[in-house]
Amino acid sequence: MASVFLMDVDNTLLDNDRAKADVARAIGEFVGPDGAARFWSLYEEVREECSVVDYPETLRRFRRALPDARRLIDVDRAVLDVPFERYLFPGALDVIAQLWQRGEPAILSDGDRVYQPMKIARAGLLLAVRGNVVVYEHKEDHLAEVQRRFPADRYAHIDDRAGLLAKTKASLGDRVTTVHVRQGRYRDEAANGAPPDLVVERIADVLTLDL
Ligand SMILES: [Mg+2]
Repeated sequence: MASVFLMDVDNTLLDNDRAKADVARAIGEFVGPDGAARFWSLYEEVREECSVVDYPETLRRFRRALPDARRLIDVDRAVLDVPFERYLFPGALDVIAQLWQRGEPAILSDGDRVYQPMKIARAGLLLAVRGNVVVYEHKEDHLAEVQRRFPADRYAHIDDRAGLLAKTKASLGDRVTTVHVRQGRYRDEAANGAPPDLVVERIADVLTLDL
């Protein structure tokens, strides 16, 4: 395969900031401000311990902290039944369809091993990339594995985190074109290392790039 396009999910293909804000609002409605504060402190505690966002583990701990069964079912649902297909950025699926004409798109995502793959499937992205999905807790540590899984002469890496793109550049050098999609809360995050090769404001703009 000549070209493989590695694509991030959160805040690249899917508006995760908006999804998280909607989940937070629902949790607040179900358990009130104190319950919600407890939930998000457990969320940060889990993120600290596991160094990855893990909603299933957060829910497990929240269940022990707040044993009001009826409310807990609502919170479980607010977190686990997010209609992620409604959070895709405009043009996200068109970009994937176009990349299939130029090579092989694949999803390279960060997250836990339960919730994140569920989100990718639910959003319709698993189908769009025909099963080409890998999820790691820290994807930047697995670039050799990614190249074995998706062998190619040339890569592009499309991501909202400039720091991750710099790490890919450091590892793959001239074999990769890095594309920074300046969407979401990390859009202006400073990054050490090489600046991205290309910068776009929205994922739909990838349609206009000559990759
Ligand atoms: Mg991202």
